[in-house]
Amino acid sequence: MVLKTLPFTKEQILEIKEQYPTPFHVYDEKAIRENARKLKDAFSILEGFQEFFAVKALPNPYILKVLKNEGFGADCSSLPELILSEKSGIVGENIMFSSNDTPAEEFVKAKELGAIINLDDISHIEFLEETAGLPELVCFRFNPGPLKGGNVFIGNPEDAKYGFTKEQLFEGYRMLKEKGVKRFGLHTMVASNELDPEYFVETAKLLFETIVEISKELDIRFDFVNLGGGIGIPYKPEDEPVPYDVIAKGVKEQYDAMIKANGLDPLKIYLECGRTITGPYGYLVTEVRHLKHIYKDYVGTDACMANLMRPGLYGAYHHITVLGKEDQPATTKYDVTGSLCENNDKFAIDRMLPEVERGDILAIHDTGAHGHAMGFNYNGKLRSAELLLREDGSFVRIRRAETIEDHFVTLDLEGLGDFN
Ligand SMILES: *Cc1c(COP(=O)(O)O)cnc(C)c1O
Repeated sequence: MVLKTLPFTKEQILEIKEQYPTPFHVYDEKAIRENARKLKDAFSILEGFQEFFAVKALPNPYILKVLKNEGFGADCSSLPELILSEKSGIVGENIMFSSNDTPAEEFVKAKELGAIINLDDISHIEFLEETAGLPELVCFRFNPGPLKGGNVFIGNPEDAKYGFTKEQLFEGYRMLKEKGVKRFGLHTMVASNELDPEYFVETAKLLFETIVEISKELDIRFDFVNLGGGIGIPYKPEDEPVPYDVIAKGVKEQYDAMIKANGLDPLKIYLECGRTITGPYGYLVTEVRHLKHIYKDYVGTDACMANLMRPGLYGAYHHITVLGKEDQPATTKYDVTGSLCENNDKFAIDRMLPEVERGDILAIHDTGAHGHAMGFNYNGKLRSAELLLREDGSFVRIRRAETIEDHFVTLDLEGLGDFN
């Protein structure tokens, strides 16, 4: 069970919306920092632990700076994400570049920044060498494919487009060694929104086994292993948060049994989580514009899928609080919608809420990862502002809302006059 509370009051929101109209996302800096410290503390039992925040979850440089202050690096997979990290002061081996189907200019930029380059395919060794030159440290992404006997935790990753097969790993590291690469990393990412801590321990075990085999066969030493991201968050009130310390202790046991026992320590342990770092600490704040009663009862808000796509895209659950009615019983069943001409544009279906009125303010929970970031402009809808609730209780705007001018900026409307 998690309590779905809010870090702000209705009065605060009514005041702030005078300056920054709804809808907007607001992120809770204090909670983000506390959670970052909790993760770091739990994993401090593993020597050289580092978390690289997956920028795609919340690509805002103010957030990246907060996380940099907490000692995190950045996990990037595109040129704009690399530039965002650079602008936030995260450079060098504090960047993990885990891309796929990568264009040359991204390898060039990653190399220029001194980032750790994590290759997705064996053919990228030569591509990287030709386009940017091989750095002294290279990492490979492993796709474990159909696991022997199946793995109840990891399932069957053979349908995923990512990574090297096991045979390719041996061949790839051999090529790197011949080409004079000095330092090596191994990475995998097979989970998404996973709430079972055992899953991550199993992943570590699989990677440690692979490292033992490769190190012996090729006589190379690994610098680090990157367990990927994918730690889930309790979207539903009945979900349990993932205990970081259980993962860390489980990984440590496997580390001692395999890495230490084979004399392969020190091997640094890396994570590249996004969702669990910021997800629970963001809220989409939206005002109720209309109520509509036909075959069902609808709450129409001033936000839409452009601001939060997960419910429409995956049927994902996001908890909703009606501000100022936190203590009222949930007596009425609603679909909570946006204004897109698209029937998927619903934040909740058949959700029990207190009686809602026009002008009520709703807070949609857990929008701190893959929320604003997934926004789009279909139907001419504009992406909202992002605010940061600072530790001193002040609200700072960390991204303005899009305007109609932004929406038209890629069109040559002047040229339209002469066009027939
Ligand atoms: C998306 C992604 C992550 C982060 O995943 P979360 O579920 O947000 O933790 C990490 N690494 C790679 C390569 C990814 O694609």
